[in-house]
Amino acid sequence: MEGRFVRIEVAGDSEALREQAAAEAFEAGALGVEERDGPPPVLWIYANAADAGPLLGALAQLAGLRVGAPEALPDTAWSEAWKEGLEAIVISPRLVVRPSFAPAPAGFAGAELVIEPGQAFGTGGHASTRLALEAIEGLPAAALAGARVLDVGCGTGVLSLAALALGAASATGCDVDPLATAAAREAAAANGLGKRFALYTGSLAALGPRAAGAFDVVVANLLRRELEPLLAAIARACRPGGHVILSGLLESERERVEPRLDALGARVVAVRCFSDATGDGWLSILGLRSLR
Ligand code: SAH
Repeated sequence: MEGRFVRIEVAGDSEALREQAAAEAFEAGALGVEERDGPPPVLWIYANAADAGPLLGALAQLAGLRVGAPEALPDTAWSEAWKEGLEAIVISPRLVVRPSFAPAPAGFAGAELVIEPGQAFGTGGHASTRLALEAIEGLPAAALAGARVLDVGCGTGVLSLAALALGAASATGCDVDPLATAAAREAAAANGLGKRFALYTGSLAALGPRAAGAFDVVVANLLRRELEPLLAAIARACRPGGHVILSGLLESERERVEPRLDALGARVVAVRCFSDATGDGWLSILGLRSLR
């Protein structure tokens, strides 16, 4: 195969299948994955030409995935192509999240978080991250000022870093993926927020009983199946009168999650919705932990 880099286009009918394909691709040595809005939505997987064989083998294991033939890319196309579509994301006049190569809009005077796109999830572009960022940004000033934040499934740490940039005192992030905590550590340092952001690789349970009521704001941007087993611990970690922000849910899952959160002592006070380009409707839920 000619060229040092290849691009492989894959299509899968569900977002879950495409996410799985992206994860498998990275596992098999892909250098980058780009989501392309459809129809139909597809992934462009970039890799060294030498890795194309194993990569195709790994993708072939996923039932229902349609995998195109590797296309050789000139070096210059690769070095720019992955930046396409990655731009500064203005969450509000107070906050922009951007990769280092994409400037904030002219005249922007708020806080700028620089998050490099890499292997960990959370550059601000995904609907669920965006909804969580908006929920953090929308917290009453008194709720965020000086807050201790817990970020469950922190990915690149974007949610914690946003909370810190907007006035929180400290954040604790955990993620089961060591690549995520490594990326978060780097992002924290790059944004000068490393001293206020504690990170560990593992799930929430590792914090143990001392987590109970220890946080003013708890954020978790997780898929429903990841979230549900953690929901009770998430609610418990939030102090009475504190806020719980859940994102990563689909609109159709609202009826199932909202009553559970309520039963755990966090009354739902706001719900945000956002439809992404593929038509999936995402949801974030803001709960206020009761004082009792
Ligand atoms: N907070 C980031 C990333 C969200 S993606 C953002 O909002 O953009 C969800 C992350 O949760 C992934 O990095 C995944 O590895 C992690 N995760 C999944 N289950 C988890 C669990 N039980 N405990 C901790 N992290 C988990």
